Parts: sequence; C-alpha cells; structure tokens
Amino acid sequence: MQPSLEKLRKFFRLEHSNRYADKAVIGGLANILNFWEGEARQDGLPEEIIQDVAQTLKDYASQTPETRAEALKALWKRIQQAVPEAVAETAKKTRPSKALVETTVAPVSPSEESGDETAVKPSAPAVSSPAFSKGKDSVTKRPIALNASLTVLSGVGPKNAAMLARLGLRTLGDMLYHFPRRYEDYTTLKPIRELRFGEQVTVIGTVSFTEARKTRDGKTHIFEVVIQDGTGGLRLTFFNQPWLINRIKSGDAIAVSGKIEQYLGRLVMNSPEWEPIEMENLVTNRIVPVYPLTQNVTQKWMRRLMHQVVTYWAPKLTDHLPEEIRQAAGVVDLGTALLQIHWPETQEQIRQARQRLAFDEIFLLQVGVLRQRRQWQDAPGRVFEAEPSWLAARLEALPFALTGAQQRALDAILQDLRSGKPMNRLLQGDVGSGKTIVAALVAALVAHHGAQSAVMAPTSILAEQHYRTFLNLLTGERGPLLPEQVRLLVGDTPEQEKEEIRAGLESGDIKIVLGTHALLEEPVVFADLQFIVVDEQHRFGVEQRAALRAKGAHPHCLVMTATPIPRSLALTLYGDLDLTILDELPPGRQPIPTYLLRPQERERAYSLIRSQVRAGHQAYIVYPLIEESEHSDLLAATQEHERLQQEVFPDLRIGLLHGRMRPADKEEVMRAFRDREFDILVSTTVVEVGVDVPNATVMLIEGANRFGLAQLHQLRGRVGRGAAQSFCLLIPEREDVTENERLQAMVETNDGFVLAERDLQQRGPGEFLGIRQAGFVSSLKMASLSDTALIETARRQAITLFERDPELQAPENRLLAEALARFWRGGRGDIS
Ligand code: ADP
Ligand code: MG
Repeated sequence: MQPSLEKLRKFFRLEHSNRYADKAVIGGLANILNFWEGEARQDGLPEEIIQDVAQTLKDYASQTPETRAEALKALWKRIQQAVPEAVAETAKKTRPSKALVETTVAPVSPSEESGDETAVKPSAPAVSSPAFSKGKDSVTKRPIALNASLTVLSGVGPKNAAMLARLGLRTLGDMLYHFPRRYEDYTTLKPIRELRFGEQVTVIGTVSFTEARKTRDGKTHIFEVVIQDGTGGLRLTFFNQPWLINRIKSGDAIAVSGKIEQYLGRLVMNSPEWEPIEMENLVTNRIVPVYPLTQNVTQKWMRRLMHQVVTYWAPKLTDHLPEEIRQAAGVVDLGTALLQIHWPETQEQIRQARQRLAFDEIFLLQVGVLRQRRQWQDAPGRVFEAEPSWLAARLEALPFALTGAQQRALDAILQDLRSGKPMNRLLQGDVGSGKTIVAALVAALVAHHGAQSAVMAPTSILAEQHYRTFLNLLTGERGPLLPEQVRLLVGDTPEQEKEEIRAGLESGDIKIVLGTHALLEEPVVFADLQFIVVDEQHRFGVEQRAALRAKGAHPHCLVMTATPIPRSLALTLYGDLDLTILDELPPGRQPIPTYLLRPQERERAYSLIRSQVRAGHQAYIVYPLIEESEHSDLLAATQEHERLQQEVFPDLRIGLLHGRMRPADKEEVMRAFRDREFDILVSTTVVEVGVDVPNATVMLIEGANRFGLAQLHQLRGRVGRGAAQSFCLLIPEREDVTENERLQAMVETNDGFVLAERDLQQRGPGEFLGIRQAGFVSSLKMASLSDTALIETARRQAITLFERDPELQAPENRLLAEALARFWRGGRGDIS
C-alpha cells in the first residue's frame, strides 16, 4: 500500500480507538492534510481521491461521533475501490482459514535487522482496516476468541509466535494483558531551550554531532551526541556503550529521556534512555507505550502489533464485571481500561485504566478466597461449649493472667467452636505475644470433650518447645490432663515410641499430639481429631495444612503466625480465614533497645556481650551468609566463629549454627544453647523462627543492611523473652550504610506492625512475604498490595456479590465466573 494510504489508515484506526472523538491528531484530523496531500500526490494517488479525503476531513470536526464513523468508513470504501492495487494485495494476503485476518498487522519484521519471517514482505499489505470490518463482531463478542493463537495475526508466523512466547504471549488475550512497562509522553515535550537543571524529561531532536572517545586512562568508552530541536542543542553522554556508534548517526531523529544535569555550566544528559522516533508519534503528539521486549523484537514492531490487537479487540470485549459492581467501585469498563492502558491520551487515563485493572485482580482474588471459605463452612463442625466453671478453673491455674488481647482471641475462638461450623482462624501476633497459651487452652477444651488435637510446627525444636509448654500448662498440678495424654512426634522420635504414639492416637487415649510434618508423613490415624493448630504458617504450604486437616472430619483449624502482616494484606491473602490479632504484649515486657553501630565500633558490641555473659546471660551473633565467596566481603558465620573463638572470646563457649548443617545437628546445637552449654551462638538466620531461649539477652546482627525489616524484627524477637533487659545491636557492612532507612526504623520502634507497614512500602509485598507467597504476589500485575483503599473497595464488592449470588449463577455474572476460573487457574489459588 502507498505510504500515504498507510498513514491515513493509521489515523483512522486511532480515531476508531478514540471513539471518533477527533483526538487522533492535535488540532483535529484535518490537520494531517498539511502534509498528507503532498505525500498522496507523490504516491500518485488519483486527484479525485485526494480531494475526497480533503473534503471529508475538513468537515470532520463539525460532525458527531456517529456521523464521523460513517464518513470515515464510507471514505475508506471509496478509496479501496479507486485504488485497486490496495484491494488486490489484500485479497492475496488474506488467509481465509484464519478467522481474524482483519486484525492483520502491518508486517514489519519484529527485529528490523533480521527479517526472519520469510513469508512476510517488507511492504505493508492493504488489509481492510480493523476499524471497518463488519459481520464478525456479533460472533466474536465472547472472550473465548481471546484464546486464539497469535499466528492468526498476519506477520506472525510460527517463528515470530515463538519469539512472542518468550514474553509469555501465546494468545490474543495475553496480548491485551501485556501492559506497557512505561510511557513516553510526547504531549509534554519540552523545547530544549526551556529545559531546567534537575528535571526528568523526554526531549526530541535531530542528531547534529557524534564523537566516540576513551577516557584518559583508557578504561571508559565515551560516546557523545548532540541533538538539536530548533530551539537549542543538548549534549548527551553515553558511557561504555560502544555499539551506539552504529545506532545513533548524524541526521537521525531520536527521543531521549533522562535527568537534566549540569557539566561545565552546560545542561547535559548522562546515559539517557533513547529511542529512534517515528514520525507518527510526533504528528499525533501522543503518549506512547513502551513495552517489555525480548531478543529480536523491536519496540516499533511490538507497538504496531499491540496497537492492532488492542484497538480491534478491546472495544469488542464484553466486560466480565457486572455494571452494578463497576458503578459501585467507580471504575471504567474493561474495554476502555485496556485501550487506555495501551493507548492513553492523558496521564489521567493511565491512572483510570490502572485503577480498573488493579481492581479486577484484587476483586477476583477476593471472590475466590470467599468461595473457598464458603466451601469450608458448608461442612458441619462439632460444637464445643466451654462451661464457665471449667474455663475459670483453667485460667485460674495459669501461671499468669491472660492479656486483654489473649482473652479476646480466646473469646473469638470459643465463639467459633460453638458455631456449628468448622473454625478457620488466623491468629496473628508479634513475636512473644503469647499465641501458644491460647492454642493450649483450646486444645484442653477439646480434650475435655473427649476429642483430639494436633499441633504442627515447622521444626522439631519448635515442636519440642510447644510440647514443654503444653505439658507445663495442661498436666501435673496445673492441668486436667495426664502427661501420657500429651505426646511429641517428630522425625527423630525412636521407632518404638512412634509405634506407641500411633496406637494411642488411633485408640483415642492420646488427646494432644505436637509435632512436625512427621505428623503427616507417618501413617498416623486419629480416633477423633477435632482441632488442628499450624504454627508459623508461612513455613508450610497449603497442601500440608490441607493434609493435616484431612486427618480429621472437618476439624476446627487455628493458623498462627508471627509475621506481622498489615491488616489490608492479611484480608487479601487470607480472606478465607477469620483474623484475630494479638496486639498486646504480656506485661513487664521491656522494649529492646536497639543500637546501630559503625563497623569500627564492633569492640563495643563485644564488650556488651562479655558483660552480659558474665552476668549469666547468653548472646546470639547472626551473619547473613554461610561462607565467604570471592565476590563478597561479607563476614561469614563459619569463619567468624573461628575468629571469635580464637581471638575475641577464647574463654567463652561458642556454638555454631548454619543452614547447611544436617537437621539433627542443628537441633543438637539449639538444644545445647538452650541448656546453657554455649554462651554465644554464632548463626545464620536459621534462628529466626520461634525459638525461645529466655536467658539470651543480646542479639548482634552483622551485615544488618542485608536483611529485610520483617526479618530483622523476627531476629530481634529472639531476645527480650525473659525478665532481664535485652539488647539488639546492628552492624552494617560499611559505615556509609548506617544511614540505611530500615536500620533506622529498627532503632526507632519495637512495634512489628509499624515495621511491617514500612517494609511493605519499601520493598513490596513479594520480598516482604518471602518465597512462598511471592509467586502469587508477582502475578498481580497492576495491583499494589499496599493500596489499602483499593483492597477495601474490592473486598466490600466481593462480599456484596457473594451475598447476592454465591455460586455466580445469575446470567449477568456468567462472564465473571469464567474470569474467576481463568484467574485462579494460573496457579494463583495457592495462597493461604
Ligand atoms: P509467640 O506468640 O511468639 O509464640 P509464646 O506463646 O511463645 O509467644 O509466648 C512468649 C512468652 O510469653 C512465653 O514465655 C510465655 O510463657 C509468655 N507469656 C505468654 N502469655 C503471657 C501472659 N499473659 N503473661 C505473661 N507471660 C506470658
Ligand atoms: Mg510461637
């Protein structure tokens, strides 16, 4: 097709995607006539067509969107009739077997350097513009068509399809959801003369000068470019990118984005992002999407492909969100959102589009979670009543009074236990808030009614710790149970004893079993399991929780975590669980003063440790890595252990614990530390979870800048568990990182929730939650889990929807049900 016609078609499409608002061109479509008429004559278009186009476009602005649509369609038809070679080419290129030919993409090779899709000619075929295709629309209204493979697009054969697959793009639907990673905003372009020092801008200009050289020491390659835009010149400097010599040449028009800096009194840009510009961007003066790319795919090709797909398909989508919900949530419809996310006209449109797409993600997530919760609640749950006298006796026997928060948590749980539905509750409480006691009281109630409980912890040292707590609280002079009714089952339990425990569980003689995943692995059968507790739930997968649950008939389930998840996040990720937060520490707990020391002040830390040990206490020293690697100057636990023992504390007993030790050896070291066989425990982060050694009063964290806030807080929670004053010392790797925000936050507060909120803001939820949930979180493309307002809106809407139509059976919710199935199929179900 003639370039002038090609251009015309592009503008028409843009108009179509803008719903004929006459916004494709600044100042109105008629403005293109300034250059178009000349080009059309050069292309040899018939004069009557040129006049026809001119007349139609001049009238365009004064019409309504409907009549504009008609006018452009009719005009395009006349053009096709008058310029037969365009039509002929269309016929040749059309692949009748493919349903979506009208979405054909002008086939530029994806990598313009290596045209590898041999079937594709370099010149664009004259396909009928998608904007004007007819007839197919009614049958393609269903999202089903979005499953079509990308090879239905012309210009995309098996080879290009394979390249796109590297970006995770396999279907048209994938394309619609392949969002720009950023935008170039040509609507706010600045003339070079008006640039100011310190601004972040995009500038367009023509290259007037280039020079490649090396710095004097010969180590750095410097490529200097000057661009001019008629108002002035701007100097760009690129470091160590010698290949640019062949990419940026005098006379090229390029767009550069970056920060304006100053060098010898002149404004310059250092290593800006740059792109060759396409004239169409300039003429239309738009915001242009910049897509994530892969090898051999150029921005230009990608953009064209995306433009074709999006402008054709987005307006045809039927929104899966029912109108009512959309209204209530105040979000735009799906077609608009997809159009605007790819081809926004204003920054505000980008914001609106993001808002809608993020809402979708959170909403679908919430609906799925609510559905899961409903499935659980459909089953009956055994009723356990706590008689007041029994309960009073239990509380009376405790060595301390419950905190208000513990009392509230217990009340909520007792309420669940008499509801007739299986409990499914998350008990979240900062380290040391006293979750174990709550679980123990509930287990006692269940035993009182003759049924069984199982408590699962991630490590045997923790399981053993719980076992002691339970024995202490529930048996002997305090408790109603006999020691043989409470048992510990871990991997290392001798086979004979395991045998005995299995028999006791099967007969029902054992009422409470505490253990590790050994509870799942062993062929353990319960007579009547009614209550399960999963401690430090983030260390377990959903499957493991489900497996434990399956050992009973709809048992009540209590999940405990010390990871201080902000409420909004907990509601999103664990919306299937009821949430109780222990927001109060037992009385007498002193805050742990936290000091940030410079590396050269390390001796101060050592002398504190020495004096604490002399007073009969113990200390932890934690390091971020196990072994020193060539590339890192980090202190390594193993090497430091040796150094500390030989040079610093030759008179003290120092234990070593790290992740590469065999589990049994780790347990042994922990046990020895607990039993005071060591004064100091040198460790990697393996001490992070749950271990309770109240006699330890110093936590020294080396390389502290390497850790996340949540992790630092967990580590700090290892001390301050007894009556004695405890201390936390943080030493970063280098002096200049003592300004580190995270470390300052640790010094400022002991409140896990405050720290969690900060961590979430600073590092994002993936990092914050750790590996298990990261996969899920990263599949949220638009939603930010720190956007509380959005999360709450989505949750409210999900609940309302659920009250009305829990099975999503109403006709207006059918598409929503499909979207939900799609969303949860992508492995996003494994969240809680
Ligand atoms: P976590 O919530 O971190 O699992 P634990 O249940 O291990 O906390 O309790 C931490 C410590 O606090 C234990 O030594 C426990 O005995 C003690 N504790 C728990 N509740 C109270 C309370 N109400 N009053 C005083 N001490 C308590
Ligand atoms: Mg605990």
